Amino acid sequence: MTIKGVIAHAHMLLQQVISKGDTVVDATAGNGHDTEFLAKRVGETGQVLAFDIQQAAIHSTKGRLETSDLDHRVTLINDSHERIDDYINEPVQAAIFNLGYLPGGNTNIVTHPNATWTALTKLGEQLVTGGIIAVVVYPGHDQGYDESSYLLQQINALPKLKWRILKYEVINPNQPPYLLALEKLKHKGDHPTP
Ligand code: SAM
Repeated sequence: MTIKGVIAHAHMLLQQVISKGDTVVDATAGNGHDTEFLAKRVGETGQVLAFDIQQAAIHSTKGRLETSDLDHRVTLINDSHERIDDYINEPVQAAIFNLGYLPGGNTNIVTHPNATWTALTKLGEQLVTGGIIAVVVYPGHDQGYDESSYLLQQINALPKLKWRILKYEVINPNQPPYLLALEKLKHKGDHPTP
């Protein structure tokens, strides 16, 4: 329930900035739930680029998209999101990272703080002003805890005039997953609303 609520909130924020015809990114395709959501939002004229290092995840996502007849809107990329700039050199309206391991897959294959941060930084450059990057973080497992600490430290150092950052967290369970939403501000002088 907790994670469904966090992901639903991520989707709710993203759908506010995605229009038909947009280019958007799923940095961690996994089983394709987020890719499918994005593919529906961008419509027939838009495109989704979806990354995953695991062939099993690419296969699973492909199957989901074919079932919902959305596969033609998505380019599946079996590579690390840290090389995102090899694949995209156009404006991106929105992106999602759903960190950790592939549900139902190998729990030892997880996202890594350095690769995640490299990809986030590169995507931040491609993101349009007003665009949002949603990052779902899982501090409840060992590597996830380290990744969470590292990301919070890096994100806290981002220029506050350029980025508005929201943290959405259900506070009663222990080490709950949470959402970071990074919005690129419209004007250099924009202040986060007090
Ligand atoms: N978004 C997925 C969904 O809707 O089903 C869930 C993603 S799952 C929690 C995390 C995924 O990140 C795993 O499939 C894993 O293989 C992938 N991953 C780990 N490191 C990665 C990297 N450097 N680049 C791209 N994907 C990576």
